[in-house]
Amino acid sequence: PVILGIESSCDETSAAVCVDGVMLSNVIANQTIHEAYGGVVPELASRVHQQNIVPAVQQALSNAKVNKNDIDAVAFTRGPGLLGSLLVGVSFAKAFALAKNLPLIEINHMQAHILAHFIAEDKPSFPFLCLTVSGGHTQIVLVKDYFDMEIIGQTLDDAAGEAMDKTSKILGLPYPGGPLIDKNARLGNPEAYKFPEPQIPGFDFSFSGLKTSILYFIRDNIAADPDFIQKNLADICASVEKRIASILLNKLQKAAMQYNIKDIALAGGVSANTGLRQGLLEMGAKNGWKCFIPKFEYCTDNAAMIAIAGYYKYLKGEFADQHIAPMARMPF
Ligand code: ATP
Ligand code: MG
Ligand code: FE
Repeated sequence: PVILGIESSCDETSAAVCVDGVMLSNVIANQTIHEAYGGVVPELASRVHQQNIVPAVQQALSNAKVNKNDIDAVAFTRGPGLLGSLLVGVSFAKAFALAKNLPLIEINHMQAHILAHFIAEDKPSFPFLCLTVSGGHTQIVLVKDYFDMEIIGQTLDDAAGEAMDKTSKILGLPYPGGPLIDKNARLGNPEAYKFPEPQIPGFDFSFSGLKTSILYFIRDNIAADPDFIQKNLADICASVEKRIASILLNKLQKAAMQYNIKDIALAGGVSANTGLRQGLLEMGAKNGWKCFIPKFEYCTDNAAMIAIAGYYKYLKGEFADQHIAPMARMPF
């Protein structure tokens, strides 16, 4: 089947075309308007989605050399995400499906981040564990089947991506800060400064204490030397990145041991992080894991992951109807 995938949950407008499980295109329109505000402004995001959605779909079809009359189903992100942003993608998908008399397939964005691994040749085998780390979520997921997933651990407060973005804000870097922390960390010493590892039971996470300790650390050092950040930016980024990665990976290791699972995957925007990717590979080598790390274009938000998830739902014959509405919060 030819599946058109649509993603608009946050600030990326994306369209992808997948034919029999093979990804032929993945067009991602990033929104730059939010940079000036230090975070995503929901109302602006939905307006830009409205401008970008039709050109993104046209580009995805033309890159894939697929005619719109050849599409067999439209898969779209139903949630979770910003309601106004989701509404644009959901409305587009419904209108397109209605006009072309096509079935609709609803997709959970967080499941899709995980299912992005099935775009690659080398796919994880069930059951596997996935550490999903993004701007809004931090989860350890036991993936038993394509759509049978159990969250065994999650953050009690901030997400890992939020910890990255808030740290970069404290350091005076623009939004989104995760990629900038990564870039600066490459030039720094990860052992330069020690930040605390929270003691949370089970497989859950907490990042709010880390955020506060970074804030106080910077405040105290700036009081002694106003140029502290400029002089030590690389070391600060490297040390923060190392701590965030170790908090994530230590819990993942604990879960892998308890569930006795050796296929381990990373997903979500923060899985683009160099330190986390390297850390997983090192931990995997020690534990005999088979590690799965997505290609960069499938880490942050994209419609390819929606299209591949749509492909597997199409095979199961699970379709949505025209009355479907987006969901800002959406369980698995
Ligand atoms: P969710 O998927 O939870 O709804 P989201 O869609 O906004 O949230 P993603 O697009 O998956 O999240 O990921 C965005 C996050 O990834 C941001 O917090 C961003 O800073 C972070 N990020 C992206 N690249 C990197 C990187 N190289 N290093 C660290 N963080 C990164
Ligand atoms: Mg984004
Ligand atoms: Fe996402």
